[in-house]
Amino acid sequence: MSKNKKKPTILIVYTGGTIGMVKDYKTGALKAFDFSQISSKIPELQQLHCEISTISFEEPIDSSNMNVNYYVDIAQIIADNYDKFDGFVVLTGSDTMSYTSSAISFMFENLQKPVIFTGSQLPIGDLRTDAKENLITSIQVASTYKKGKPVVQEVGLYFEYKLYRANRTTKINAEQFEAFASMNYPPLAISGVHLNFDYPVLLKTSKEKEDKQLIFRKKLDNNVAILKLFPGITASVVESFINIPNLKGIILETYGSGNAPTEKWFINLIEKAISKGIHIVNVTQCAGGSVILGHYETSSDLKRIGIIDGKDITTETAVAKMMYLLGEKLSKKEFKHYFETSLRGEIN
Ligand code: ASP
Repeated sequence: MSKNKKKPTILIVYTGGTIGMVKDYKTGALKAFDFSQISSKIPELQQLHCEISTISFEEPIDSSNMNVNYYVDIAQIIADNYDKFDGFVVLTGSDTMSYTSSAISFMFENLQKPVIFTGSQLPIGDLRTDAKENLITSIQVASTYKKGKPVVQEVGLYFEYKLYRANRTTKINAEQFEAFASMNYPPLAISGVHLNFDYPVLLKTSKEKEDKQLIFRKKLDNNVAILKLFPGITASVVESFINIPNLKGIILETYGSGNAPTEKWFINLIEKAISKGIHIVNVTQCAGGSVILGHYETSSDLKRIGIIDGKDITTETAVAKMMYLLGEKLSKKEFKHYFETSLRGEIN
């Protein structure tokens, strides 16, 4: 890009969500606006030192309707345009943004360009909107180069003055502009008077990998379920989960540092599921911190029967990683190994 110092080129991919809405002042209803007209809605974009192109879902969706086919659509747009653009900004609704952006992080191997997800709590056409700052700074993040290389070479999520590693985020607030948190990993950048990147925490492409082509994996398998423990959970609930036809993976949301009931019926059912070939990952229900298998007696049995250690992964990312690894047709041992290994900086 900057070898001849031309302006960075940024592709905005609009999938839907609140950010792309304007108010119809006659009816008061929110409706999607034509994203190709973005410069007229946000004239400030012309002041940015980059060339912006847009591409939009034909029918923008509320992110509650997000699914794995749309993940592939988003990733396909990026893959098709990877060589033509210096950076990508993906706009989705915030409700499922952590799931979607995590999934995209796994679908691309050797990603060396910024893919920044953002959205907003208020529509872009609203007077008090947070959309403009989120969008403008995301574009700036995606177009920041240093010594001819993009500063961000991973999938990020920018919201309310903070850039996070996407696969570390969780939506924590439906009301405040600060809608996301990354409890187990520091922000990659903070936007204040200056846009300050925290260089040591960013993913870097090693010298040997610089020449490697982008690999795009699109075989996701969504035969997964989340089983959240609660005091009083019955054997029939756990049993019905493990008997779901075609189920291949369960995210078991445990207490604290990976703890679960020690009752025989529970351990027996989980063991039975694992021996049936269902991959079960232990992920903590806590917003921050990590599973530490065997730390308490209440997780020793889970460790013994071969549960996968989710470490400090978020539930959203565990779902995405599960779908991704299931698509890779790995042996039981390989699956456990890759799940417990950081592939895109998603676990410590
Ligand atoms: N319901 C909306 C969505 O996720 C909320 C938002 O855009 O933030 O699509």
